[in-house]
Amino acid sequence: MLDPAAQRPVDLAADVRIQGGRIVEIGRGLVAPRIIDVKDLWVVPGLIDLHVHLREPGQEYKEDIETGTRAAAVGGFTTICCMPNTRPVNDQRAVTELIVRRAKEVGCVRVRPIGAITHNLDGKHLADIAEMKEAGIVAISDDGRPVMNSGLVRRAFEYARTFDLPLVQHAEDLDLAEGGSMNEGAVATRIGIKGQPACAESAMVARDLEIVEWTGARYHVAHVSTARTVALIRDAKRRGLPVTCEVTPHHLALTDEACSHYDTRTKVMPPLRTTADQEALLEGLVDGTIDAIATDHAPHSPVEKDVEFECAAPGMLGLETALPIILDFVRMGSLDDKRAIAALTGAPARAFGIPGGSLAIGAVADVTVIDPERPMTLTPETIASKSRNSPFMGQKLAGRAVLTIFEGKVVHDLDSRLR
Ligand SMILES: [Zn+2]
Repeated sequence: MLDPAAQRPVDLAADVRIQGGRIVEIGRGLVAPRIIDVKDLWVVPGLIDLHVHLREPGQEYKEDIETGTRAAAVGGFTTICCMPNTRPVNDQRAVTELIVRRAKEVGCVRVRPIGAITHNLDGKHLADIAEMKEAGIVAISDDGRPVMNSGLVRRAFEYARTFDLPLVQHAEDLDLAEGGSMNEGAVATRIGIKGQPACAESAMVARDLEIVEWTGARYHVAHVSTARTVALIRDAKRRGLPVTCEVTPHHLALTDEACSHYDTRTKVMPPLRTTADQEALLEGLVDGTIDAIATDHAPHSPVEKDVEFECAAPGMLGLETALPIILDFVRMGSLDDKRAIAALTGAPARAFGIPGGSLAIGAVADVTVIDPERPMTLTPETIASKSRNSPFMGQKLAGRAVLTIFEGKVVHDLDSRLR
């Protein structure tokens, strides 16, 4: 088993005994009424994703809580945090309660909602943060839209601090971005698509860090995509600011070259960047500047994607391909297996201050078993998500969750070990 958050040796061969939905014993030669043999596989804490779009309520033709949590279970995730840009927006108690209730009714993993910063994501009026906190939100964000107004960001930070919630910023200065559909650079020029500069992201992060220093509030940067942002966060952490951040598998694995055939599945926000950015992201993940790996799972239907590149909605699926993409870096030797698992378990839990992410005695039994070499190909026939918008569709990948256990119950069992 691999449990980077553990006090005991992080990497050891052992049995895990689960009873009543909790981990009750870890050791060699344990006995139980039913034994699942997962010798030679990795037993890790259930994966945690800080950044998922479940599309319910309002856009269930793209995804819903049932299919989104199913995709999560297949991908090895037992906790997912869902972004508030639903219809209606999750900016008030009633919507938060609806998501929490639906997740209990039809969801197969834990769903932790993120509330909006501003009412209807209007960027002008603060949402009912206190009420949403009571109803169960774990962070606030206007994800998809950056909060441009600096005075409002300051007030939002002060509220967030009062309720001990991290503020999650989709960092994109809209005036600098000027509606660019991909990264501004050589590829955009070559293929004639309007780009947005890397500084659209880092300029907003730089502004936010000044306000974090002033307010002392917790700040989490969503989907970091540029080398400059990594440098800014590294410096902020060195100065002791309460800052965390995440990177997506697609920003680690792809560059703007992937956009050169106008494939709208490669259109994401922030856009895929350059090789230099990609290298800085990996370095930041390795040295811990980047805390967590988060998917930004963003399902879209052909209505939003089978159009010209500039008109296509940004976003790609992530839950079912995150693990094989990250394990590729482990296989190449550029990322340590323990660091990879930590960034998918304990580190995201700490970033948002939520439980989970460790196989501790007494902890809720959220456990994922990974076969790191298992071949896998995402196909329209086998995908659990309702949408298909992944540039990895049809590619031969390797490494996947073979068993996902949520609160002691098996929610994904690839090889029918329990039959
Ligand atoms: Zn975003």
